[in-house]
Amino acid sequence: MMREASIRGDFPALAQSVHGKPLVYLDNAATTQKPLAVLDAMQRYYLQDNANVHRAAHTLAARATEAMESARSKVAALLNAGASDLIVFTRGTTESINLIASGIEHQLRSGDRILVTALEHHSNFVPWQQCALRSGAKVDVVRVTPEGEIDHDDFAAKLFPETRIVAFAHVSNALGTIHPVNELVSTIRSRCGARIVIDGAQAILHLPVDVRALDIDFYAFSSHKMFGPTGMGVLYGRREALDSLRPSQYGGEMIEHVTMEASTFNVLPFRFEAGTPNIAGAVGLGAAVDYLSSIPRDALLLQEEKLIGQAIAALTAMNGIRLVGRPKERLSVVSFLVEGASAHDVGTLLDQQGIAVRTGHQCTMPLMQSLGISGTVRASFSLYNDTTDVERFVQAMHKTLTFL
Ligand code: PMP
Repeated sequence: MMREASIRGDFPALAQSVHGKPLVYLDNAATTQKPLAVLDAMQRYYLQDNANVHRAAHTLAARATEAMESARSKVAALLNAGASDLIVFTRGTTESINLIASGIEHQLRSGDRILVTALEHHSNFVPWQQCALRSGAKVDVVRVTPEGEIDHDDFAAKLFPETRIVAFAHVSNALGTIHPVNELVSTIRSRCGARIVIDGAQAILHLPVDVRALDIDFYAFSSHKMFGPTGMGVLYGRREALDSLRPSQYGGEMIEHVTMEASTFNVLPFRFEAGTPNIAGAVGLGAAVDYLSSIPRDALLLQEEKLIGQAIAALTAMNGIRLVGRPKERLSVVSFLVEGASAHDVGTLLDQQGIAVRTGHQCTMPLMQSLGISGTVRASFSLYNDTTDVERFVQAMHKTLTFL
């Protein structure tokens, strides 16, 4: 039997008990735990290098600037962005998408259209609704199939010459569906000149992402979903696409020259990074990128896939469980319901047995509305989960069913 590859020991938070039971952490789509390498890098930065970036001439400032810019280069390499000035640091996916939505608004007119899908996280839905409200554009929403996939015919039918933006997730946080980005991008390119925005929050840890090969305009993700710290994120943009955005925050760092009357703005990416940045966050993100390249990611991904298969098989065999979504291509996530019980009660009973899952609408109310449900129980796996986690989860589910 093949031995499981294990990186579990690198994540101190996993080695604890909850309600007297060893923790089984299956809420990775919400946020991942952090390896010691990331925590150490951040602590080392604060202990030795802490200073503000880009301004001062002193040694610590030079070290802090170097630490932040080297993190930017690591992210550029991870995405095959081609240049590190195309990597804008943000607070996370949400801020990255808002940065695009408010920066692009001045280019939209009444009659223009924005296309999103019914599977989107609120972070890739509400900013577009607001952008449309302010600009007079209209939001079209692509239907989702009962399996939890984008309805391709509906997608194609809703691409108009007036469609100026198409925004969709690489991987769905609620159902785990992997969307065929290449195929969708070529459909878009054949029909209109829309900017293509990909929400990569759930993909970045699991899939190789080559932003140039994907031929998209923007790619957004959060550091905390890929073993890095919270409060840190990335917006990649094609140079001409980034250049066309207006900054939405003004102040220090983002200016070139300021007079009593007017200001001019800095070059990319600093134009979009007003104020003192999250330097320690960038250091942590850089360490997370290094960590990812130091582990056998492909073997761990295969293992994760196997675990999801086991969880799905076990849930399918249980009476009273309804799986939500059966996408052909999926990763990390299993969403389900227990007939006659609230998702919240199931989550609480699992928590009492040491199992952490997420319950509720999964920040995807339009999707839940399309599926005719109010929420799900979501177990989401990461590279450090193992067969014991699945076994414990399955046992806990059997026990939970006896309580309900
Ligand atoms: N999009 C998707 C697909 C997500 O899963 C999440 C986080 N759950 C977000 C956007 C928002 O990310 P953040 O809260 O880190 O900004």
